[in-house]
Amino acid sequence: MLLSSRQKLAVFRYCLAICLPLLICCQANAYPNVTKPNLVQIFTKTIADVKKLKDSDTGKALQLLNSAKENLDKLSLVNQLTFYKYQADIYADLSRFQLAKDVATFGLDLAKKLKKPNVLISELSYIRGFAIESLGNFKLASEDYLNGLDVAQSLNDQQFIAQGLINMGAIYYQTNRYKLSLMVLNDALKIANNLKDEDLQGYINTELGSLYSYLGELDQSLKFYRTAYQHYSNIGKDSYALNSLANMAANYQSNRHYGQAIDVYKEIIDKLKGKDDNAMYYNVYMGLSWSFLRQKKSDPETAYQYLLIAEQYLGDVERHSAKLSFLIDKSYVLEGLQRFDDALDSLAQAENLFTIKQKQENNFNYISILGLKAKISRSLGHYETAYKTLSEYVERYITYLKAEQISAVQEVRLRYESEQSELQKKSLKKEGSDQALELLQAETKNRNQQLYFMVIALAVLIFAWLLYKLVKGQRRLLITSRTDVLTGLVNRRRLLQVGKSLCVNAQKQQTELSLLMIDLDFFKKVNDDFGHKQGDIVLQTLAQLGNEMFRKNDVFARFGGEEFVVLLPNTSKEQAINVADRLCKKMAAQTWQHNSKSIPSITLSIGVATNKKFTGTSTDSLDFEQLIKQADDLLYQAKALGRNKVCA
Ligand code: GH3
Ligand code: MG
Ligand code: MG
Repeated sequence: MLLSSRQKLAVFRYCLAICLPLLICCQANAYPNVTKPNLVQIFTKTIADVKKLKDSDTGKALQLLNSAKENLDKLSLVNQLTFYKYQADIYADLSRFQLAKDVATFGLDLAKKLKKPNVLISELSYIRGFAIESLGNFKLASEDYLNGLDVAQSLNDQQFIAQGLINMGAIYYQTNRYKLSLMVLNDALKIANNLKDEDLQGYINTELGSLYSYLGELDQSLKFYRTAYQHYSNIGKDSYALNSLANMAANYQSNRHYGQAIDVYKEIIDKLKGKDDNAMYYNVYMGLSWSFLRQKKSDPETAYQYLLIAEQYLGDVERHSAKLSFLIDKSYVLEGLQRFDDALDSLAQAENLFTIKQKQENNFNYISILGLKAKISRSLGHYETAYKTLSEYVERYITYLKAEQISAVQEVRLRYESEQSELQKKSLKKEGSDQALELLQAETKNRNQQLYFMVIALAVLIFAWLLYKLVKGQRRLLITSRTDVLTGLVNRRRLLQVGKSLCVNAQKQQTELSLLMIDLDFFKKVNDDFGHKQGDIVLQTLAQLGNEMFRKNDVFARFGGEEFVVLLPNTSKEQAINVADRLCKKMAAQTWQHNSKSIPSITLSIGVATNKKFTGTSTDSLDFEQLIKQADDLLYQAKALGRNKVCA
């Protein structure tokens, strides 16, 4: 976690390395009569052990520290403060922030007895600030940080000044004041450079790298990470150094520079040789796998090989989220290999890892699972599953986008701000006055506001476009499943659905519904004499003639082969016969050409059925199947009577 690592890296380091020896020397002189030398020695030893234990076994460190509490009132004020500082710090490490805050407050109250400023006040203030920050109150936290910074400045203690600046940088960063964060971190960096403190330099460069990465400035971010790597390497902090490289690779990857990402990952593997860092191995091989899969010339085979290597290290990275992301990545690789069933299997395993709540909350990983599942189902020809999954995906993605909209807007705005900060810094140096700062800030605020509205408008547009694309895709699927491909008419499946409901409506509203069953005469001969293609043209022409003739509410469907059905709501038998006659005549009058020779006229036979007219209380009417059957019988009759006829 960013915060606790901040605490560990910074406050803890300086407390121990610099202050402790000093403090212990001082207290012996200050309280020569009260303090027994052996108690001081025991305390010093305890603190040294606590320091060693703190990172590896924090709980045990706390136990050990608390063993020193018994004789605490016999020790000097400075020793007592040292005790509370460690106690608060360990509570913070254990994420027991309320306790950390209370202990630090107790220590700070005690520190009021100090005759002159002491760096312990800085430390206790920073720790309490950190606890309060972790409890979510940035404003109160910055008060502590600034107080600590004041004390450090009055003592002219450069390390603690830098530490205070880093703390403030983190606050600014989290409250979206990126330009301030940049300035403050840069100032901290200057101090670290002056002190030639490579540990501190590595730390601040890492922070700056993360900040620029978040702002989307790849080159800057890479530069800082690379510098951090150098500093950590110089002082032999290898795991920190490799972390910096891993950050670089991840940065390349998220900016789709897969070739460079692969190079850096390989560099890390090279440097990892002989080391026993399973988590790092896992991350690196997963990164390699993903990069090979996603690079321009996708290489799923190599991606799969790396995935298998990474899996060997997964056992040691026993985090739920790691397992989940592994399964999802695996599905993508298997999909790339066209091993669709295996991919679905892996997705199902991943899905099982989600709680019901996460699914309801539109967890992004869960949404991406749905997207991939829809894609695979489509590849497998499982169109119904694909359709259902895609619908769910679309619905959830839209909900997610709505929720994320604000942060997308924020991000673009921040990028703009970071550019401004460079400019501002330069002009600030020139002006060198507070007035200039205020002016600039007001100006930037104004400009940011304008930009903010522009960005919102843009985001709304992008969102609308996305929505349109998604909905259009969905509609296309829907339309396809209802339409006959050759003629564009309603298909049989859809006709059966619509027919039933029209029949029920007609019955309810006591209106008349007629049905025409149409069949082309001797159509087989058309195909035989002029070819199948010509036959298709005839079918399409009939569809066109009908579409020109029928009303908007009529349903014209291709029933199969060369048979068509027309549903005519609110139409009596006589009116329906009239419509059928007109269609017959129109078709017969149509002229046909094949290879510039004319084709003899093509005729239709039609059977007309109507649900019974409703009179008064009569509910006796035909259902849709009966209607079809009756029209079909009448069609057969028309054929028997010599074709080109309407029978009712
Ligand atoms: P009848 O007057 O008794 O209806 O004679 P017919 O030849 O029309 O009857 P039959 O049902 O035997 O023939 C229908 C033909 O329609 C057979 C089939 O090849 C043809 N057909 C069915 N679907 C299509 C199609 O999509 N395109 C083309 N070109 N022909 C089709
Ligand atoms: Mg037929
Ligand atoms: Mg026919």
